[in-house]
Amino acid sequence: MISVPNYIEKLAPYVPGKPIEETQREYQLKKVIKLASNENPLGPSPRAIRAIQSVHTELHRYPDSSAFSLKTALAKKEQVQSGQIILGNGSNEVIDQIIRTYCVPGDAIATYQYSFIAYRICAQIHGVHTLEAGVDAQLSMSVDELVDLVRKNERVKVVFVAQPNNPTGQYLKKLEFEKLLKDLSLIRGGSVLIVIDHAYAEYVSAPDFVNPQSYLSTYPQLMILKTFSKVYGLAGLRVGYGVASADIIVQMEKVRQPFNINSLGMLAAEQALEDFEFVQKSVKMNALGMKFWEEKLTELEISFWKSQGNFLLAQFSKELGVLGFDVYQKCLQQGLILRPVHNYGLPHALRITIGTPEENEWAVEKFAAVCKDLRK
Ligand SMILES: *Cc1c(COP(=O)(O)O)cnc(C)c1O
Repeated sequence: MISVPNYIEKLAPYVPGKPIEETQREYQLKKVIKLASNENPLGPSPRAIRAIQSVHTELHRYPDSSAFSLKTALAKKEQVQSGQIILGNGSNEVIDQIIRTYCVPGDAIATYQYSFIAYRICAQIHGVHTLEAGVDAQLSMSVDELVDLVRKNERVKVVFVAQPNNPTGQYLKKLEFEKLLKDLSLIRGGSVLIVIDHAYAEYVSAPDFVNPQSYLSTYPQLMILKTFSKVYGLAGLRVGYGVASADIIVQMEKVRQPFNINSLGMLAAEQALEDFEFVQKSVKMNALGMKFWEEKLTELEISFWKSQGNFLLAQFSKELGVLGFDVYQKCLQQGLILRPVHNYGLPHALRITIGTPEENEWAVEKFAAVCKDLRK
């Protein structure tokens, strides 16, 4: 057999949300609703759809590798220079680019326990370790713990913090966030890259949540990740980006694959950025749907963590021994796809993406019946 490095042999690949068609086929169901991947339930931005309908005749051309037009639009939006933006095939690819640029095998990244799993997977692919700062029972993150971890481990080259985090929905409040940036920036002469993953930026409503973008000019080692997969509704086209100092982007651009963003994605993303109406509508609908789920879960006496994203993490009673995966499987049989999170180390939890009002109504009914059944 051809040997592979030990870290590849041991790698547990990313498990995506179960696709609708697969569920229909396996369970022989007509109606299937997917609330499993934090996608925008309203579909893609209408402006983005219109834009890509017009370019089919140009698909024989390679895309613009410099992404001049999209980068110009993003620079305007983020109030930075074009040279401060790197594009990725989804922000997942930017995570990969970061590790390829800044780490060698044997190095480490640091993050919080129950963080977005892509950090760990991308690190392991490159033989890079993941160190995790623990969180408390409420899943709150402690700044000192993460800072200590980074300080004590010289091989930590990059820190990843999702604000808010997926799957927990938690975030660092303004003062804590500022302390995190300040303390991390002082470690090893400011040589640790600090990555703030802001995938759910548009959904956040908490008044003590700060926009990480305002700290870019103060911290040259800060990088912010964003994506078109969530509120813009373009998960299928794979476009994400990172914003950082030009010094960081110059290095990362060397590592980027030349045509990593395809023509359709580039065009759709640029148009979606201008679709304020769609974003506003999506955010509003999400807030109402979140409230609806919070109320229903309370009625069902199922605990959950308050979330700043377009998803919610429900926690089943450990005493009753209900596992998230059991609820997931029973819901699947009813045509409702939710997201188990045992691979994150949360066996009693289940992540629910907020849907449209109709989807939420339908899903709650199925979900409630399953929960009642499992409690008997
Ligand atoms: C969904 C998500 C992303 C986005 O991934 P893409 O590759 O852009 O689709 C990034 N970070 C977090 C925390 C997410 O939940």
